[in-house]
Amino acid sequence: MERTFAIIKPDAVARHLAGDILKRIEASGLRVVGLRLTQLSRADAESFYAVHKERPFYGSLCDYMTSGPVIVAVLAGEGAIKRWRDLMGATDPAKAAAGTIRKDFGQNVEQNATHGSDAPETAAQEIAFFFRGLELLP
Ligand code: UDP
Ligand code: MG
Repeated sequence: MERTFAIIKPDAVARHLAGDILKRIEASGLRVVGLRLTQLSRADAESFYAVHKERPFYGSLCDYMTSGPVIVAVLAGEGAIKRWRDLMGATDPAKAAAGTIRKDFGQNVEQNATHGSDAPETAAQEIAFFFRGLELLP
């Protein structure tokens, strides 16, 4: 059983797409084992996306990610990391496959509706960044 970390990003929460996105997660068979509504501080966003600090989009990405509430979640299931990435689709909604969350709900390469961990190590780090062990279902 694998765990991954998901964010329903500010643009999606603001446009009332959280229910639709959670519905797709549930329909996929992934299990939600942690869930919370929150808003990132500047320091949170900068730290969470530190790996992108040298990229030209970093400042704008941090502005966007702090612009409103987000929903953070931990998803569990066999192959959860890849399954959640597949459900989301490519980073750029314009390049995402039909039927993916980013294709259907993303607005542009920055405001792309959701986040998903890309590997087991980052999943563990990202889960620990947002959740204490006791907040997660076994
Ligand atoms: N992003 C952006 N411009 C880009 C690439 C990425 O604004 O050219 C943003 C976008 O919100 C993306 C996030 O930075 O989801 C993290 O980028 P990454 O390459 O890790 O994409 P992801 O793993 O989210 O598909
Ligand atoms: Mg990434």
